[in-house]
Amino acid sequence: MTIETILPIPDLSSAKRILCIQPHYDDNDIAAAGILTQLSKNGAELFYLTATDDLKGVVDASLSNEEAAAALKRDQFAAAKIVGVKDQYWCGYPDAGEYNYFDLRRDFLKHIRLLKPDFVFAPDAWLTYEGHRDHVQTGLAAAEAVMFAGLTKIASSDPGVDSAYEGHEIRGIALYFTREPNYIADITSTWEDKIAAVRCYEAQFDAPGMDELVMALDMKSQQVAQGQAFARGEPLKVLHTSALHVGI
Ligand SMILES: [Zn+2]
Repeated sequence: MTIETILPIPDLSSAKRILCIQPHYDDNDIAAAGILTQLSKNGAELFYLTATDDLKGVVDASLSNEEAAAALKRDQFAAAKIVGVKDQYWCGYPDAGEYNYFDLRRDFLKHIRLLKPDFVFAPDAWLTYEGHRDHVQTGLAAAEAVMFAGLTKIASSDPGVDSAYEGHEIRGIALYFTREPNYIADITSTWEDKIAAVRCYEAQFDAPGMDELVMALDMKSQQVAQGQAFARGEPLKVLHTSALHVGI
């Protein structure tokens, strides 16, 4: 008997409601728009939750914070149309700034209890050499919120949501930006959609920066598909909820 027979890799293709938790406004799509577009085309409902306000990376320095926030939303809604995102939510913590980890986790718990996803996407908090604290905190808080969703003694940021919550099954978490994938999603058929979505994020990339990003994604998508029966892939670590703690 192998560990896979005890805790098989959850079957993402059967996902019905997916909550994609990201540190910044473009991370879900840069990492996983290929598989997410495919899942939405298969009928899954997609919800995006963005942890930070993203105001530090806006390239046009002449914009006020209000104008920059509007530009970020415009980009997100344009990309969401391509990927098939049903609804979006924001926590609004300061980009690369000071905020409390447990506040973040409470907000994630609230959205998980409210939306009742059967799968959650988030960045891999255990990515070696990840230097951006927003990514590490978001990944860890998402993993903890997935584990603790059913434990309503651990309060979310909304007592009303907690008291109405009757529990539900989260079948798995898919960690992106990972160096230890156990699943390479075939994104050959949605590659063009992914790049069209990524190109919507104009507020954070000037034209040369965007071309560089697309080139890197192009190379990476082919590199991770080497040895597979398809041309382009996205690497994910897909874990059963029970695999998120103590490793047995
Ligand atoms: Zn990011």
